[in-house]
Amino acid sequence: MRKKIVAGNWKMNLDYGQAKNLLQDLIQNKDKFNKDTEVIICPSAPYLGVFAELTADHDWLKLGAQNSYFIDSGAFTGEISPTQLKSLQINYCLVGHSERRDVFDENYDLLSKKVKALINHDITPIFCCGEQLQVRNSNVYREFVMKQIEDSLFSLSATEIEKVVIAYEPIWAIGTGKTATAEQAQEIHGIIRARLIANYGEKIGNNVSILYGGSCKPDNAKELFAQADIDGGLIGGASLNAEDFCAISNSF
Ligand code: PEP
Repeated sequence: MRKKIVAGNWKMNLDYGQAKNLLQDLIQNKDKFNKDTEVIICPSAPYLGVFAELTADHDWLKLGAQNSYFIDSGAFTGEISPTQLKSLQINYCLVGHSERRDVFDENYDLLSKKVKALINHDITPIFCCGEQLQVRNSNVYREFVMKQIEDSLFSLSATEIEKVVIAYEPIWAIGTGKTATAEQAQEIHGIIRARLIANYGEKIGNNVSILYGGSCKPDNAKELFAQADIDGGLIGGASLNAEDFCAISNSF
């Protein structure tokens, strides 16, 4: 059975003190979070070590990284390896967020290597995909998103793809306050699920969690999460507020 997931992408926000305060806020409110939901936070990389210690006794709260390279170690200044993440007990890692694709020119090939390396280290990749506004308006958005998924993920075996979480994040909805409607989101999630099933079979396709991301907030999460193929959310802005993040976890 696929997991229900709420993952917070803190991006490059919060100084160390603010980040620790937010973590404490989440921990103090742990009883209010949905017990049937996998709750994940992805703080900035320099905080992961201390956060791993602070969450060691909190199995309900998982840690994710926002990025990782695909090689284990070596002369790659500024990069973080999956081996290093694993040594901190990091369970998840974002891959292919639109900000990394756009600002840092990450392409299909690199993303596919990153996904594979994470799986090899038993870290769950949260693979992001989604179209720009002009692609949405040009009406080839379905094919565009499917190509992102096929190019970076469909070389994985059936056992590997089951270890991936997919996040559909229409770029025009990220940080804009302009959420996709539940119907718009479900349309793409449904297509992704159908292609997973066509490629890997019913059982595997139905086991992959597909999250929605893009201005997901407490007031729209319920409708989004009620859709057949939406298994939770990748949350940016609203994950920086403990109360909102908690409310989103209770929106299933
Ligand atoms: C994101 O960046 O992954 C995201 C979904 O951001 P926001 O919720 O702020 O739109």
